[in-house]
Amino acid sequence: MKRALITGVTGQDGAYLAQFLLSKGYEVHGLMRRSSAAEVVDAKLRWLNIHNDIREVDGNLIDLSSLIRIIRDVKPDEVYNLGAQSFVKASWNQPLLTGQVTGLGAANVLEAIRLERPEARFYQASSSEMYGLIQEDMQSEKTPFYPRSPYAVAKLYAHWMTVNYRESYGMHASSGILFNHESPLRGIEFVTRKVTDGVARIKLGLSKELRLGNIDAKRDWGHSKEYVQAMWLMLQQDKPDDYVIATGRTTTVRDMCRIAFSYVGLDMDAHLKIDPALFRPAEVDVLFGNPAKAKAKLGWEAKITLEEMIQEMVDADLARLRDART
Ligand code: NDP
Ligand code: GDP
Repeated sequence: MKRALITGVTGQDGAYLAQFLLSKGYEVHGLMRRSSAAEVVDAKLRWLNIHNDIREVDGNLIDLSSLIRIIRDVKPDEVYNLGAQSFVKASWNQPLLTGQVTGLGAANVLEAIRLERPEARFYQASSSEMYGLIQEDMQSEKTPFYPRSPYAVAKLYAHWMTVNYRESYGMHASSGILFNHESPLRGIEFVTRKVTDGVARIKLGLSKELRLGNIDAKRDWGHSKEYVQAMWLMLQQDKPDDYVIATGRTTTVRDMCRIAFSYVGLDMDAHLKIDPALFRPAEVDVLFGNPAKAKAKLGWEAKITLEEMIQEMVDADLARLRDART
């Protein structure tokens, strides 16, 4: 039985990845940081009904000693570093914390593996945000990076540390450059989930309007459930490498929003308000990924469409809100 350690197991991708690895027969260990609200920390794992199947390990990405202890005890075959301060907008308010968790946190995991378990395979959750002010219309593994937020700068450091540990120590360390991916488990602060929750509230008469910032921004949105499978595939390859994971389709926030409103038969223009306070100090105007390498080398491609995913998310939010009322 293979053993996997997941940092960020309580997040969207961590929960779906844990579910996927359990289905493959893995023993799954999940890093959990101490919280005063322990009863809600594993809400996403509970949603998937796998909370009793994960072996919790207590630590924090910014505490190297905890990571060394965990790697020594667990002796993982595969380590997935998904933990991060992952919300771009918050990274301007907490730039140093974002650097410590999202950037140095990855270096801490790499160091703990190098010291205690150098044969373990490592996955780093890199991000399309690293392309930022895009240097090519369609972004591939060869496109130069131009980060536009403290989050993206921190992710770029983590990405290059992954490459560096691979080249310096021969570690099986891979970096997945994942474009935006969503699901009913997406954090409520991200735009897709904010929209699907907002639309569900308006539909149920709980609210009248939805306030958004820059709706001209374009993103290449896929489904988390499919993207975590690409992470696993990367670690099954003979050689470590970097891969773009994307759908190859880009859509404006406005059009994504329209999909959600029209699914429940509401007129978007009657409810959507633009709030200048929600604009960012620096914007990533468009992300559009080229997943050709992942298809050729991993045999991976996105199948769930944006329409299908947004409808699934709206249905989940309607169900959540109805449950909360009863
Ligand atoms: P989430 O925000 O849902 O999850 C982040 C996870 O990191 C949570 O489990 C959180 O724990 C944990 N975490 C935060 N700080 C620490 C810390 N100091 N020590 C240990 N754990 C910590 O993110 P996603 O699941 O959406 O994304 C997974 C990864 O992929 C992230 O690294 C993200 O930046 C990256 N990524 C995501 C993309 C997307 O579109 N979803 C695109 C590209 C990259 P807690 O529950 O306690 O807060
Ligand atoms: P990101 O690509 O990781 O920053 O993912 P988000 O889902 O947070 O944002 C995607 C895009 O939606 C960005 O260009 C945001 O500026 C834009 N956007 C517009 N309005 C909002 C909003 O109210 N909340 C969020 N999170 N993003 C918004």
